[in-house]
Amino acid sequence: MILVLFGPPGAGKGTQADELKDKLNLIHLSTGDILREEVSKETELGILAKKFMDAGELVTDELIIGMIKNKIVSNDTDKGFLLDGFPRTISQAKALDEMLKSNSLQVNHVVSLEVNDSILIERLLSRGRSDDNEETIKNRLDVYKNQTLPIKEYYKSSGTLIEIKGDDSVETVSKNIFSSLK
Ligand code: AMP
Repeated sequence: MILVLFGPPGAGKGTQADELKDKLNLIHLSTGDILREEVSKETELGILAKKFMDAGELVTDELIIGMIKNKIVSNDTDKGFLLDGFPRTISQAKALDEMLKSNSLQVNHVVSLEVNDSILIERLLSRGRSDDNEETIKNRLDVYKNQTLPIKEYYKSSGTLIEIKGDDSVETVSKNIFSSLK
């Protein structure tokens, strides 16, 4: 199964991925986590990505698509993927479809976590990550609305979109996601 966890920064994608990956036997791929690891190791990719991340901007599609493609194509297990933080642009969504198609796979479900802005800002400010300061948060929410939100329509038209209320407790949200997949 290929499951995409979709939603704005602070919606709880990472938290829900941790709840779901074992239950569903999926490999968790978080582009944010992979990028943070590259930054901490000071790799070429990490150095390129850091300036975008610090500003709350998206890392270029080319870098992201290359990075994800490696992971998906080199999967030699029969596990599917739980994608978290990817795709974030229409180009990434189309590239994902292409790379899956070449492995005879497709996106099966896109779970969109719905949380309003005031709760998102509250959550992000309390998280204390280096890109979670007030100015960067505002930019990330704008970037989300302008560049990422259009993907929802893309998946709605393919019939894979499931909208889940994301401001309940972690357990309730995870239970609701799980039962929506059955
Ligand atoms: P996240 O942990 O998902 O909030 O990602 C942290 C930062 O990494 C984002 O603000 C972006 O700068 C970058 N990033 C993560 N995933 C992507 C992606 N799919 N496309 C572009 N940039 C990304």
